[in-house]
Formats: sequence, C-alpha cells, structure tokens
Amino acid sequence: ENESTVSITVVGASGDLAKKKIFPALFALYYEDCLPKHFTIYGYARSKMTDAELRNMVSKTLTCRIDKRENCSEKMDQFLKRCFYHSGQYDSEENFAQLDKKLKRHEGGRVSNRLFYLSIPPNIFVEAVKCASSSASSGNGWTRVIVEKPFGRDSESSAVLTKSLKQYLTEDQIFRIDHYLGKELVENLSVLRFANLIFEPLWTRQYIRNVQIIFSEDFGTEGRGGYFDNYGIIRDIMQNHLLQILALFAMETPVSLDAEDIRNEKTKLLSVCQVKVLRSMRPLRLEDVVIGQYKSHSKGGVTYPSYTDDKTVPKDSLTPTFAAAALFIDNARWDGVPFLMKAGKALHNKGAEIRVQFRHVPGNLYNRNFGTDLDRATNELVIRVQPDEAIFLKINNKVPGLGMRLDRSNLNLHYAARYSKEIPDAYERLLLDAIEGERRLFIRSDELDAAWALFTPVLKELEEKKIIPESYPYGSRGPVGAHYLAARYNVRWGDLDIEQ
Ligand code: NAP
Repeated sequence: ENESTVSITVVGASGDLAKKKIFPALFALYYEDCLPKHFTIYGYARSKMTDAELRNMVSKTLTCRIDKRENCSEKMDQFLKRCFYHSGQYDSEENFAQLDKKLKRHEGGRVSNRLFYLSIPPNIFVEAVKCASSSASSGNGWTRVIVEKPFGRDSESSAVLTKSLKQYLTEDQIFRIDHYLGKELVENLSVLRFANLIFEPLWTRQYIRNVQIIFSEDFGTEGRGGYFDNYGIIRDIMQNHLLQILALFAMETPVSLDAEDIRNEKTKLLSVCQVKVLRSMRPLRLEDVVIGQYKSHSKGGVTYPSYTDDKTVPKDSLTPTFAAAALFIDNARWDGVPFLMKAGKALHNKGAEIRVQFRHVPGNLYNRNFGTDLDRATNELVIRVQPDEAIFLKINNKVPGLGMRLDRSNLNLHYAARYSKEIPDAYERLLLDAIEGERRLFIRSDELDAAWALFTPVLKELEEKKIIPESYPYGSRGPVGAHYLAARYNVRWGDLDIEQ
C-alpha cells in the first residue's frame, strides 16, 4: 500500500469552487492524516500561474479546525509544498500529456492512482474528460473523475452527457458529486432510522402525516445570476439536493448483510434502494408546483434588488428563484403521504431542514388541554442539516404546576452543545470517499435518470407555457401560493424560527 501513490488534479484550479471548497477540503484531509502517504496535488487551468502563485492563492483559503489548532501552520506549509500547478487548455491532449509527464515524475515509479476533479463549467466537461483519459490516465492504477453538477438540464441532455462521458470512462470511474450527500446530518439519516428502535417502526404512512424538505437562502444572485438563470431553482436545488435527501429518507430498509459481505455490496444495495424509491414516485404535475421570483423590497432604509435587477439576468426572465412542490411515492410504505419540498433564494432566513410531521394521537385524552389548535399538538421530528446542525423531536408535555395544561416542548440534540468537534465540510467526506473508491454518496447514472424523469415533464411545461412566477418581496417567506399548495394536502409548512 505504501508503494502506491495518489495524484489529485483539480481541473479549473483558478476558479471559485476550487479555492473555496476543494483545496481547503484537501488540506483538512491532510491535516487529519486521511490522505495516503504518497500524494501530489496539481492545479490545472488555462490561467498562467507558477507553483508559488498557486500556493499563495490556496494558502489564503486554508483554515484550521477550531478544536485542533496545534501545528496547523506547519502542516499548511507541508501541504502547500505538495501542491503544484500546470497551465493548459481543457481541450488539448498535448497539454494533458505534459501534465502526465510531471505526474509520473512525482509518482516515481510507484503504482499510480489518479483522481481528476472537474471544477469547470459544464460545456467543457466532455473535452476535458476526453483529454485527461487519453493523455493523463494511470497506466497501472485506477483513474477516477469527480464531476460537479449540473448533470444536464433535463432527461435528454443528461442522457447525452452520460453517453459522452462513457465514451471515455466506465461508470465505475465517474463520481457525480452532490455535496448535500456529504453533509453530516444527511449521512446521519440512515443511522437515526436504522440504529434506533423508536424511529424505524414509525417510518410509514401509518404514523407519518407528511414530510417536508426545505432549503432557503437569505440572499439573491447578487450579480452572479448568469449561470443560475439558465437553470432555475428547481434544477439547481430540488431535482438534485432535495430529491437525494428524499430518496435517502424514504428508501426501503436494505437487506441486512453478514460480516462476509464486502463494502461494495453494501454500497450497491443502498443505491438500489434509493433508485427504487425514485422509480416509485409519480412524475411531478404542474398543479403540484408553485414557482416564484423575488422582487425589490425596501426595509429599514435599505432597498434590496429584484432578481431581474441583476445585470447578468435578462430583464424579462421567467426563471424561478423559488419553488414549492408536492411529491408522492406510490408504494405500500408511503401511499398518500405528501412529500413537500420548498427551495428559494432571497428569503427571510437561510438553512436546510427535514421535517417529519406525525399523525394525531387517535382519541387523544388531552385534546381539551390544547385549546383548538390541534395541528400543533402532533409530534414532529426536525433534522436541521445546516446551519447549526440539530435534531429536535417535538413532544407534548405537561406544563409543571397543579393544573393540567400541556405545551409543546423539544427533545433537543444540538450538535454544537453535544459535540465539541467541528463538523467536517461535505467536500472532505466526498473527496475521501472518492479516493477510497467508496461510491455510496455519489450519484449513479440510473439514479440520475430516475431523478430527471420526475422533473423533466414539469420543467418543459413551465417553460413551454411560459408560466409566470409569483412575485415575493426580497427577504420575505416566499409566495403565498406555497401555503395554498401545502393546504391542499392538509399541510402547514413548519418554521423553525417561530417554533424553536
Ligand atoms: P468558475 O470559477 O466559473 O470556473 C472554474 C474555472 O474554469 C475558471 O477559473 C476558469 O479557469 C475556467 N473557465 C471558466 N469559464 C470558462 C469557459 N467558458 N471556457 C473555458 N474555461 C472556463 O466555476 P466554479 O464556480 O469554480 O465552479 C466549477 C464547477 O462547479 C462548475 O461546473 C459549477 O457549475 C460547479 N459548482 C460550483 C459551485 C460553487 O460554489 N461555485 C457549487 C456547485 C457546483 P481558467 O480561465 O484559468 O482556465
């Protein structure tokens, strides 16, 4: 094992994602001793840079864990010494062949494993993959490629992309990253459900009234709407991140495995369960979707812009910056249970959470003690994915005192209070998994097809019919239509702000 080496090439190293996420994640892995003994990191992009300039650029975004600061700056120096830069075009086999030569020099004749992280715009994915695989793939070890969303913009374009990538790579070499799957609380979903007796038996239509998966940002596109405008919030957040969470949440119990079974088998079984649940969902219908776009709003003397004030967005853009949707899973476990999703930019708060609202207690002895607001009296499990990770279980409890008055209280697992460790960034876990060949948290092509099949018809309809998004003020709770949609299914959106 000591005689193998990993070369990690960040393609598009001069870009935003590389600086903000990839290099810091690689450093965190190095700092935690998770990278193999022999490794080299290369930045690759068209910009002209020397190794020293790359190191200087990267050094500005590296951080130390709050709970582990000792030797940190020394470690940074050691890490930076192992980072190099090669300038080249994305469509030049010759430039990748030069990179190959440099990588070989570092690998020094050991078994060479190579990981390419494509952190470049989607229109140049295929060329870069072609050149990297033909001119810089490993001769005696593995070669893997991490690709970032967007994976197409509908079923057809996604299929074309997959087909093109597969001209140069096998499915086993492609790691489609959805960074939500690397988030601590998303990873914890299966543990919560399968390692606690009290949850798994309740994970059905008999006990669960509805499930909500909510994402909100408290800022708009702020001059960077060019990319977004071509995709919109449904493609940018729902079809991938929120749907992946839903699949993990709702999948059937994987058959248990005995100790003999290798990790790959387990991974395969989990993925099969996730694909299955996606395939048993009904494609989203237009009447089950509400779209919105934020409008300018003045508050406290500050005027917040509308989406179309963004100079990179066309004035007449109908691209949704908000969407709410009701989805259904047609299987025995979830028949009739609405899964509601909501995602938006420029809202009043930011965060991502999963909310599970349980049914009413039948013939509740204590109904009277709540007054009339029975809706609030049901149990609710809230998994706050970000920020400030937490798991709450809302329960009904007697208010201390001589009378019999009930209120809602929280059993509260607040991560910052319970664990003094800093939670690793999603990119750390995913990069480590890709290096180790663990595919569980990456999207397979059949999963991607199933995900697009659910959203493509409604996306087409929205665009063909030129449906006008409902406006909502910047910094608000989103369009009222989202409340009507939820009400149609007897759901009231949860809101951590008021209920916590
Ligand atoms: P970026 O900064 O726009 O692009 C990365 C690098 O690609 C640039 O530094 C540039 O390097 C090169 N590049 C840009 N436009 C190009 C063009 N038209 N033709 C050829 N090369 C071009 O992108 P990013 O924000 O880092 O994101 C990288 C990838 O991750 C994208 O596919 C994006 O959709 C995806 N993504 C980003 C984020 C994020 O937080 N930023 C989140 C999720 C997914 P050179 O000019 O030096 O070659």
